Amino acid sequence: MEKTAELYEGKAKKVYATSDESLCIVSYKDDATAFNGEKKGTILGKGVINNRLTNRLMKLLSENGIPTHYVEELNERETLVKKVSIIPLEVIIRNISAGSFAKRYGVEEGIVFKSPTIEFSLKNDSLGDPLINEYHALALGLASEQEIRKIKEYSFKINDILKAFMLEHGIELVDFKLEFGRLPDGTMVLADEISPDTCRLWDVKTHEKLDKDRFRRDLGGVEDAYNEVMRRLLGEKA
Ligand code: ADP
Ligand code: UDP
Repeated sequence: MEKTAELYEGKAKKVYATSDESLCIVSYKDDATAFNGEKKGTILGKGVINNRLTNRLMKLLSENGIPTHYVEELNERETLVKKVSIIPLEVIIRNISAGSFAKRYGVEEGIVFKSPTIEFSLKNDSLGDPLINEYHALALGLASEQEIRKIKEYSFKINDILKAFMLEHGIELVDFKLEFGRLPDGTMVLADEISPDTCRLWDVKTHEKLDKDRFRRDLGGVEDAYNEVMRRLLGEKA
């Protein structure tokens, strides 16, 4: 499958049209941004790692009954996916307090929740992705009641699958962001990516951060952390 026109260049990926209008190609870049694009940088090799990791996790999820956009890995940075119309919600699942949750509610990072939480942000960079509840999403016509029910059902199931998989490899799944989209027939599928850019991942024993927080917080060892996640999840067990 060949790329035809570039449809969109985002902060971390480019999306291309193909000769089949139901499919597109995503190409993962090494560009890194944080704080709504205010902080910019490069994480060498990130595009390759995020492409390969996302595809591994999408395959795992689809084997476990979650419909996804994944079609085929084309090369180390590019993947063929089903073209969807993205539901403009960032769905965030949390198992442990961190990041904006810890800040918003004035609690320390690292509190292990009895059960996972879910929250939604409106996917809108110019508004800074504000928090939104499901009634607001319904009122704005962003998704139907049935779709919101399904997003919650899929997201918690995805959490169970990913949490167990990561734990087998010595990684604690702290929190992560998902995006869903609609196929032309209205079916909802998981889209976008699942990677150290979109998840908080901590070493299970040392709680060392193995994700984009190393870039956001200038902790150093960013590339090493991404490589370590790839080694653990795609290579040998912990
Ligand atoms: P951003 O738009 O936040 O800068 P990216 O750089 O990751 O993010 O850009 C990728 C874009 O492609 C995102 O806007 C995402 O919603 C969109 N996308 C992801 N999967 C698909 C898909 N299967 N079909 C169409 N668009 C998709
Ligand atoms: N996240 C993301 N994209 C966003 C916002 C958040 O991938 O635009 C991920 C982030 O990497 C983390 C989780 O969602 O794993 C929760 O992020 P949080 O709300 O704590 O926000 P942040 O600390 O990134 O501002």
